[in-house]
Amino acid sequence: MTIVPSATTRPVPPVPRRAPSLTGAPVASALGGTVGAPAAVRPCGMARDLSHAVHRDGSHPRRTEIIMFTVLIAGGGIGGLCLAQGLLKAGVDVTVFERASSPGAFKEGYRIHLDPDGGRALHSCLPAERFALLDAACGRPPRAFAWLSEGLDELLSLNVAAPDGPPDPVAVHRSINRFTLRQILLDGLGDRVRFGKELLRYEIGADGAVTAHFADGDRATGSVLVGAEGTHSRVRAQLLPHGGRTDTGVAGTGGRLPLTPATRHLLPPQLRRGPAMVLAPGGVNMFLATHENVPGADLPAHMLPTETGDYLVWGLSARREALPAGGIDHLGPEALRELTLDLVRTWHPHVRQIVGESSPSSLSAFTIRTAVPVRPWPATTVTVLGDAIHSMPPSRGIGANTALRDAGVLCAGLVAARDAGTVDGRALTAAIAGYERRMRRYGFAAVKASNRALSQSVTTNSAAFAMSRAAMRLINRFPAARDRVFG
Ligand SMILES: Cc1cc2nc3c(=O)[nH]c(=O)nc-3n(C[C@H](O)[C@H](O)[C@H](O)COP(=O)(O)OP(=O)(O)OC[C@H]3O[C@@H](n4cnc5c(N)ncnc54)[C@H](O)[C@@H]3O)c2cc1C
Repeated sequence: MTIVPSATTRPVPPVPRRAPSLTGAPVASALGGTVGAPAAVRPCGMARDLSHAVHRDGSHPRRTEIIMFTVLIAGGGIGGLCLAQGLLKAGVDVTVFERASSPGAFKEGYRIHLDPDGGRALHSCLPAERFALLDAACGRPPRAFAWLSEGLDELLSLNVAAPDGPPDPVAVHRSINRFTLRQILLDGLGDRVRFGKELLRYEIGADGAVTAHFADGDRATGSVLVGAEGTHSRVRAQLLPHGGRTDTGVAGTGGRLPLTPATRHLLPPQLRRGPAMVLAPGGVNMFLATHENVPGADLPAHMLPTETGDYLVWGLSARREALPAGGIDHLGPEALRELTLDLVRTWHPHVRQIVGESSPSSLSAFTIRTAVPVRPWPATTVTVLGDAIHSMPPSRGIGANTALRDAGVLCAGLVAARDAGTVDGRALTAAIAGYERRMRRYGFAAVKASNRALSQSVTTNSAAFAMSRAAMRLINRFPAARDRVFG
């Protein structure tokens, strides 16, 4: 990868590179391509094991002379960092360009639910010891998901884990603090993550090499560019200008309640087994989930969030008609609290106390948008992953898990292309085409499922609402049938 600094910025120091371990390649052709062509200035090429090769002058090539393909990732979020971990583990040259100024500058949400897809992707991309660290950093695992009435009566509770223990310890449901997850994903990447680098645009050369341009005037050239910059992805906007997001007509408020002996009693008992969704008439719902630390996780201090205790997160969603006409994005914490208290005024008193006692600094407003499906496009050496292409409502808690799955699939495709021995622009484009084919299928299926779950949870059709609550109660009375249908 070449990085060309702007006249006003310091030159970027060279990143130490790890050579890929490849075998079985015809040495002569590889040598022909590498002599006199340092890897750092050749974004595309052949990756070969040159350990037994000799130059024309009789000297042996250094491992760094092996021409490798280089991957540029815009966005050091959950998906981008997971991909970087996987590529680095496989010996592929990768650099992440992140807009935030430093690892501590990330504005994180609180808890994130990792599902079996996310677990499998993280397991495939992270080195074993880092995956073990992640596993140890997780809170008490969720075992069920419950739907409750506004009076906190149980409507339905479904197990998310087999009662006698999961057969595969990797593919389980987990709860982890977002800040900790990001710090674990950054661990070991060192200066392969460049902070303060906001990608503006890219251009593709005749040989397929991609040059990324940054807001500070720097540019970098690599074999592949991956847009992993989340919902406002500039890569997606340039690659697929007809893609993007649309408003769901749903917005809401959220907050965090530290769990102490004085607040724990406010939680409905179902929360001991996992998250819950309160479904209220009038198109209003509230998601509730706890994050409870498990003793024994020995994390380095820099991976711990500022507030380390157990907590509850809640998020209230409502159709815009139920919210103030002028919108809620501009409201301060106390106005958001008042609004939320007003919307839950007829609910169980514990819900009102949870909102009333949440930390003022945690109260926030959000608007729910969703990706528009994009028809297949011709593959190039530029691609996208995660929220950049298939952002979805948080209603099923699968956005990050789908981003992680993308990272795992794309990583496997690029590494397979490398292992097949040809990593020119055409081979990389074919690998990306394979990734995009799969990603479009499961990614937009996840968007559809999340949209459906959102609209069911905020329906204002009172007959449909009453029927679905009655059906939930009925199914819940017959655990054997329930587990057969939903297990
Ligand atoms: C309230 C809420 C709760 C959620 N809970 C869950 C959950 O429990 N489970 C789940 O699976 N999903 C959940 N999600 C969804 C999840 O947060 C996202 O799907 C996930 O973060 C997407 O990951 P990503 O890597 O695509 O993007 P992000 O994690 O958003 O990362 C994008 C990164 O790109 C950087 N960036 C942006 N623009 C640029 C640029 N131009 N140049 C360089 N860098 C840039 C950003 O700073 C950021 O670091 C939730 C979402 C919300 C809103």
